[in-house]
Amino acid sequence: MRKAAVGTAVVCAATACAVSVLIVRRRMRNSCRWARAEAILKELEEKCATPIGKLRQVADAMTMEMHAGLASEGGSKLKMLITYVDNLPTGDEKGLFYALDLGGTNFRVIRVQLGGKELGVIKQEAEEVSIPPHLMIGSSNELFDFIAAEVARFISSESEEFQLPTGRQRELGFTFSFPVRQTSLSSGTLIKWTKGFSIDETVGEDVVSELTKAIDRQGLDLRVAALVNDTVGTLAGGRFYDKDVVAAVILGTGTNAAYVERVHAIPKWHGLFPNSGEMVINMEWGNFRSSHLPLTDYDDSLDAESLNPGEQIFEKLVSGMYLGEILRRVLLKLAEEAFLFGDTVPPKLRIPFILRTPHMSSMHEDTSSDLHVVASKFKDVLGITGTALKTRKMVVDLCNIISSRAARLSAAGIAGILKKQGREFTLERQRTVIALDGGLFEHYTLFRKSLESTLAEILGNEVAPFVVVIHANDGSGLGAALIAASNSQYSELEVS
Ligand code: ADP
Ligand code: MG
Repeated sequence: MRKAAVGTAVVCAATACAVSVLIVRRRMRNSCRWARAEAILKELEEKCATPIGKLRQVADAMTMEMHAGLASEGGSKLKMLITYVDNLPTGDEKGLFYALDLGGTNFRVIRVQLGGKELGVIKQEAEEVSIPPHLMIGSSNELFDFIAAEVARFISSESEEFQLPTGRQRELGFTFSFPVRQTSLSSGTLIKWTKGFSIDETVGEDVVSELTKAIDRQGLDLRVAALVNDTVGTLAGGRFYDKDVVAAVILGTGTNAAYVERVHAIPKWHGLFPNSGEMVINMEWGNFRSSHLPLTDYDDSLDAESLNPGEQIFEKLVSGMYLGEILRRVLLKLAEEAFLFGDTVPPKLRIPFILRTPHMSSMHEDTSSDLHVVASKFKDVLGITGTALKTRKMVVDLCNIISSRAARLSAAGIAGILKKQGREFTLERQRTVIALDGGLFEHYTLFRKSLESTLAEILGNEVAPFVVVIHANDGSGLGAALIAASNSQYSELEVS
């Protein structure tokens, strides 16, 4: 009996000892894991840093690339495309016009009744339709037929408040937010698809004739009167309300900018536009690239595995299509190397683009003490449960690093434009307005605040008070309709 009791006691002691060794080991392992996770975070933070000096270098590089792109065809990563928009809206525009905005995850159809100087925008209506993903990589006809059918449906549901004088054809401004080489205000060929679209047969084609053919197939009587980029539409829409708007920036699924340039400052177009003093330039700044950009291994692998490797590097750092994906890549590294979410990597974390930027912004902006929004996004989107509070705090830090870098680089880009326009000098104290739009800018409040405060920081106390950032809410649709109005086949009649 005694022997047995002693034996049991020995076994118990040994077991207790083993258990405590395990606990200590696990604790040690956990602390090692956490240390590794913190090291990954710290490295990301350092690589993504955007001190003011770096932002100035980025702004200067943007200005230089603008000069180079204007000087010669192919002179820069920035295409600096001519838009043929040399008359921005004045407010005199009258009549019923339409706009169609194709540029990312959704497209919009808009109708607007314009009443000239006195009445302004009498009435405006819009509908938004999401583009079925299979059409983004399908055939050209399928995509344009889908769009034309939606336009037909939209027009057929028109109330009597919208009036087209009898005998007139409907006219539409087509906002097409992909790189296009314009051949006139109402024609242009697609240079390449971006933002997840990939339909080879459309590249090199005139996008207005593609749309017109689809409109004809629908039996619609509608003329495409203007082809504009969303940045150009936003600039025009912004100018309608505020005469000091000189540039527009889109921060949505993708990113781009347009601004007003003096024609005499455009070497490659000398003599081409003798009657025009100003011309809107579509920069295609998403393709900006500079050695000053703070790129990480995550960005490099995202780019390498993308549909357009080596292209749209600025867009891949800044825009809504990619921010959530950058975050996913960092989380995956934390799972693989620091076992942050357990001994195995949660399988959903391996799915590209599963984590969207709206998920990221709601986690970043989670102000609850237990960060339950972070917990619920992890559960719903990534299938990860039981994260510790300190892990959730780390996730918020990651969101902050990735979105601050994006917002601050966007501000540097804007500063580059202002510099090109000569508006960064303290002597020239003109009110200067930049029209911003896009879902990222509109809905991601911390991103937007960071962009605004960084722009003021770059410009400095003397200049910043004269530079205003406005949210041109869906200005691109109105802008495209306004440009269609100024290019209307009936505009001569209107004047007489
Ligand atoms: P598009 O750029 O496709 O024309 P939008 O300008 O509406 O359309 O922008 C949509 C994009 O904005 C989304 O793809 C997403 O990246 C971003 N976005 C939308 N809502 C949010 C949000 N709440 N937080 C962060 N980003 C958002
Ligand atoms: Mg858009």
